[in-house]
Amino acid sequence: MIIAELCGVTKVYGGGVQALRGVDLTVERGDLVGIVGPSGSGKSTMLQMLGTLDRPTSGTVRIAGHDVAGLSDRELSALRARYLGFVFQQFHLAPGVSALDNVADGLLYTGTPLRERRERAEVALRRVGLGHRLGHRPNQLSGGEQQRVAVARAVAGDPPLLLADEPTGNLDSVAGADVLKILADLHAAGTTIAIITHDVEIAEWCPRQVRVRDGRIVAETAKEVRV
Ligand code: ADP
Repeated sequence: MIIAELCGVTKVYGGGVQALRGVDLTVERGDLVGIVGPSGSGKSTMLQMLGTLDRPTSGTVRIAGHDVAGLSDRELSALRARYLGFVFQQFHLAPGVSALDNVADGLLYTGTPLRERRERAEVALRRVGLGHRLGHRPNQLSGGEQQRVAVARAVAGDPPLLLADEPTGNLDSVAGADVLKILADLHAAGTTIAIITHDVEIAEWCPRQVRVRDGRIVAETAKEVRV
């Protein structure tokens, strides 16, 4: 089953920068795909398209079969809340707010009552190994722990697709490996994941790799998955 699909997607930014020059990409349920390329190759723009955070100049973006071109901004927000989770290089946690509430607040747009949001947040934080840090605020957590909170927030609503943009970019190698291990565990438990990275090692760790250069996909590879 296809979760996200880009068909002939181009993106031209103001000033005439052609960030994407006709991209065809499908993300299927169960994928753990690394989208890899050098800085400026268009990876983040591709994530913006997959995440419906920006609209393409031309081409089609479909999420769970919905063509996003026909949706209002409000409908797009609802689609994102239902189908997508996001992790960015910068953790984007609210300062002065506990880990529990940072995660619980991520479920605001689902209309879930506060008590249930907090229960789900606690479950998500336990999944990323932070059951003992629920009341800690971001400035009381290490970078790796902050990113784990961000991962918990992204998956608390059980989105079918998790989009991660350089999720280990701000972490040392040990904390980065921890975050990758958590992503692997989430993948094993059924979450489909796309990771944007300039790091070839991280890409090679993914069962499926998409290589991007100058706004185009230049190669796709898939490893035999061992079971
Ligand atoms: P990557 O994530 O691979 O580093 P990006 O998708 O961020 O690549 O950028 C692709 C190209 O688009 C680059 O040349 C970048 O400078 C340009 N670009 C990205 N965002 C914008 C923007 N908002 N306005 C203008 N140009 C942009």
